[in-house]
Amino acid sequence: MNCDVIWSKLLEQIKTDLSTISFFTWFQDTKLYKLENEKAYIIVPMQIHKKHLMENYSDLIVNTLQKLTNSNYDLILLMEDEIKEDEEKKEIIKENSIKKDNSVLLKDNENVNNNLNNKYTFDNFIVGNSNKFAHAAALSVAENPGHMYNPLFLYGNSGLGKTHLMHAIGNYIIETTNKRVLYVTSEQFRQDFVKANRRDDSGTNFNYIDFFKNKYRNIDVLLIDDIQFLGGAGKSQEEFFHTFNNLYNDSKQIIISSDRSPTDLKLLEDRLRTRFTWGLTVNIYPPEYALKTEILKKKIIAGNFEQDIPDDVIEYIASNIGPDVRQLEGSVTRLLAYSAIMGGEKITLDLAIEALKDFISKGIGGEKNDIQRIQKIVSEYFQISMEDIRSKKRSSNISFPRQIAMYLCRTMTTESFPKIGTEFGGKDHSTVMHSVEKIENEIKTNKDLANIIEKLKKDIGVV
Ligand code: ADP
Ligand code: MG
Repeated sequence: MNCDVIWSKLLEQIKTDLSTISFFTWFQDTKLYKLENEKAYIIVPMQIHKKHLMENYSDLIVNTLQKLTNSNYDLILLMEDEIKEDEEKKEIIKENSIKKDNSVLLKDNENVNNNLNNKYTFDNFIVGNSNKFAHAAALSVAENPGHMYNPLFLYGNSGLGKTHLMHAIGNYIIETTNKRVLYVTSEQFRQDFVKANRRDDSGTNFNYIDFFKNKYRNIDVLLIDDIQFLGGAGKSQEEFFHTFNNLYNDSKQIIISSDRSPTDLKLLEDRLRTRFTWGLTVNIYPPEYALKTEILKKKIIAGNFEQDIPDDVIEYIASNIGPDVRQLEGSVTRLLAYSAIMGGEKITLDLAIEALKDFISKGIGGEKNDIQRIQKIVSEYFQISMEDIRSKKRSSNISFPRQIAMYLCRTMTTESFPKIGTEFGGKDHSTVMHSVEKIENEIKTNKDLANIIEKLKKDIGVV
């Protein structure tokens, strides 16, 4: 039973013992904040409630709680802002009170401050080619924390769902086990560490060190987001190193996210980077076209909007916006807002083009399919224009990148030679074949070219 349920049951019972007016005066707007260490923390609306409730109703509350939970609690009455003001101290109390051996605890991990956002779950994470490995790895860690892959290191560009997957793991674990989970960003970790080293006016450091150790070591699962921001923060890195070792040695699950791979985390010490690769490192790639449309469709259904969004509009968005999923979501919001401002005008392709024109002309996306995406990445790499790479021009500074792009299209997508030819200035399929063969042969002897192709493949990701 969670606190809200317990409290509403308690109120139901107490209501029958009191006059209506007393009940409303003293119990309306009260809330059970938490049950912990044989203490019941109850939120009351005003100071006066504290004294009055304590003097008149404490026995009634304690006895009713006892009946509902089979435990005896001392009452602590607080006002909402006292909790907020004192959050740090409360956290110390709370974290200190977590007992080491979770086997003796009932399911108490729900009331621990785990920072999880229940909006992000596996249920609403949509899987496609580009993220299916990351998704599977995340789920397998969630189902078996501390045993399968430790640490799990998720990396990829912004907006590809790393944070979503991390919360999904955490939510899954707290639902299915009694394990204690903590989600923090590396910035939060750094701040806590700084706080742990702070002294107060008298030169002492009350309980902060204990608070820190409890918070980060007395847990079963640590999710640390955006680890790249820990780079440069010397002492925090050192502390994270110890935290990592401590948890790792106790077979506690660690999940890390980053915008780049462990080897590219240049600001982190080697010993940390090495540890990050001990478990499983998973790259989450930009969503392919099909996944983008799928995400858009699901978000539209979930949003339950009054207006229908037709398929051609979804296709238009998927072709022109992304790869950041946040931008996909943003474009739907913008489209709906635009239609509302226009007096609820029906959403059509024309309206979408108009509503999203600023978004698109800023150069976000622009590719209509995977061939165009490859063309875009290759032309950016060689600093030539999309028009040129798609043209018939023969100068070598254009034709060479074009050949590379054709090679990548052929080896990374399922597109046919003729289709690729059409997208490259209407070239004949034999010209495409010839270009692909040429690059294939050259890679074998030209190491620089092989490296360039590798780099481009990485940027293109999964198609
Ligand atoms: P990151 O942490 O990689 O920058 P987020 O996890 O914050 O990205 O994702 C950005 C937004 O896109 C969030 O609202 C998230 O729910 C959504 N999102 C990303 N990938 C997916 C997906 N595969 N299915 C559903 N929503 C997704
Ligand atoms: Mg994130």
